[in-house]
Amino acid sequence: MAFVLELHNLSKQNYIKNFVINITKEFDIKMDVSYQDEKLTFSFDKNHSKLQECLESIASTLPASLFLKSSKSYENDLEPLKIASVDNSYPLNLGLCPSCQKEMLDVSSSRYYYPFTSCNCCGGNYSFLNSYPYDRKNTSFKFLVPCKNCQDEMQTISKKDTHHINSCHSCGVPVRLISKNSERYANDAGSFRTMFEVSAKAIQDDKKVLIKTTMGYRVFYKADKLNNNSILMMIDASRITDNLALITEEFNALLSIERPVLDVTLKNEELKSAKGSNTAYVKYPDDGFCILLGTELQKLGVDFVAYEEVDANYEADMVMEYDLEISSQTDMRYFLNKDTSFIAEGQRVSFPSANFEKRDVLSISENLVGLPQDKTMFFDKMEHFNDVEVKKANVIESIDEKYHSNQIKFNKQESSFISVVAEHNLFGVKCVGAYFDEEPSFLYYDGKNIITIVPPKEFKATDILENISTLREGSDKLVQNLKTTKPDVYNKLERLQDRESVKLFEAVAIILGLSDESMRGVTKEAMKFVGKGGIQIDTHVTDNRFDHNAFLASIISYQLAGVSTAILSYSIFESFGDYFSELIGELKDKTKASEVVLCGTHFANQSLFSRMQRNLKLTPPRMNKNYPIGGENIVVGGVFI
Ligand SMILES: [Zn+2]
Ligand SMILES: [Zn+2]
Repeated sequence: MAFVLELHNLSKQNYIKNFVINITKEFDIKMDVSYQDEKLTFSFDKNHSKLQECLESIASTLPASLFLKSSKSYENDLEPLKIASVDNSYPLNLGLCPSCQKEMLDVSSSRYYYPFTSCNCCGGNYSFLNSYPYDRKNTSFKFLVPCKNCQDEMQTISKKDTHHINSCHSCGVPVRLISKNSERYANDAGSFRTMFEVSAKAIQDDKKVLIKTTMGYRVFYKADKLNNNSILMMIDASRITDNLALITEEFNALLSIERPVLDVTLKNEELKSAKGSNTAYVKYPDDGFCILLGTELQKLGVDFVAYEEVDANYEADMVMEYDLEISSQTDMRYFLNKDTSFIAEGQRVSFPSANFEKRDVLSISENLVGLPQDKTMFFDKMEHFNDVEVKKANVIESIDEKYHSNQIKFNKQESSFISVVAEHNLFGVKCVGAYFDEEPSFLYYDGKNIITIVPPKEFKATDILENISTLREGSDKLVQNLKTTKPDVYNKLERLQDRESVKLFEAVAIILGLSDESMRGVTKEAMKFVGKGGIQIDTHVTDNRFDHNAFLASIISYQLAGVSTAILSYSIFESFGDYFSELIGELKDKTKASEVVLCGTHFANQSLFSRMQRNLKLTPPRMNKNYPIGGENIVVGGVFI
């Protein structure tokens, strides 16, 4: 007989599975594990005397995950035959699991205040990977010989077996803290603790502290110095909701093992005015360095601190670093509202990834490659691989290099769209949809081939003022009017005309007079709007392409008529939402497609997405599950082009 625990897990990554296996192994209980149709199924030997104890241990230590949706249990007649083993063929960059965190803050442990603490299924392990196969000799830890204790842990049944970069104070990485007139080293519990204490005090004294965390370089400073690129790191979990207005799902997501960055509503008035906005990107400490810094800041009564992802050259008052080489990933930004959630952007947690049946093809995007390995496709950064032999290579069109004699090029919107088709296994099913990353485009998949129906039109700022003034009768007066009443905006637009590459939403933000001249700025401004409906912004199509000039002219005229920037920003996304759903509706009727696909990172926008959700209620859109909706999913779609 077997006791079956079934977890509804959207992610195909192994860490949740490995957590359960780690614990079950410690109890020496036979267990079968399988993953199919998003169900992670564990069948335990029901007759084992310690099963109850084992299940309790799983329940109390399994970390929360963004991708775990529900669980159920039942019994069946199967007989589990063997002890399951951890699948640790590639590392990820995750937050720390509860037991590693505990170990790091336990004064009696050999890893007290040791920031490189992690196990075989948590922590910033990917950062230290140099090449495959994943083994200590192929990581930055290759020159560090593990001490007897660490060696023993790696060879006995525990969460540290197969943990190739296992280390502790006595065999681990020394860290140094450098400021203008002092340099200190940490290599044991006491010195590490002092180092984090000194850093926390420096931040409290308004200094900027650059730290080489296991997730990459981050510069930390007081939250009153927030700028457009800052992320707020919340420190005390019990005080998070004093400062942020969160729905339960957001709170749980922040504390999940994936530790994503979320765009959430602020509650704290001082923060709102420091930020000049109602919303901010926030995160709960993920790696050992951030957790230890947070612990010391909390002792000083600090609830939150700001940081930015930067590089080693950033000029800070104090630098905490070490000699191991790391290869960091872009962080995971997660989108969620009451009804739905998805990964907005970033490589972390989604990559590396083994997924889909293998094909004899190499897919290359700007940052990642996909290649056949064992039975599946494998996706990661190119630098981690040696040569592969495949029949052909599919390469993103922005790369000119020749990788293969049989090489074809693919574009962003089509490969992004196909990645969604692949994730939902919609091959052979007619789908229509849109891709939105700066430029909107519309696509149709007939079950076999993908076609861009409305291609993206690259925005060019050259002649933007001239183009707007000649748009239609009276448009010249609009531009004249802008010049006299808003000379700052006019001058900025004039200067934009000389620049080679300008994004559409940069021009929009400039017209709106926002300090954050980007899509992000317009998105944040839209979140200030609390009313019901917005106004109609011109989003029409000329010559089968989105008309940038009509769109910008429409914003200028509302701006001159005194409509507030918050209403205007909100209305831009509302109008975009209607524009997308209208065109998708038309395409759906024409093609008789049954599915709607949305991709491209600009859909990770509360105002736009909720409008689309409302409009597409009858055919809820399909979106990526294991991968971000934009940018990073391109390498996945590239396999199927
Ligand atoms: Zn751990
Ligand atoms: Zn050790």
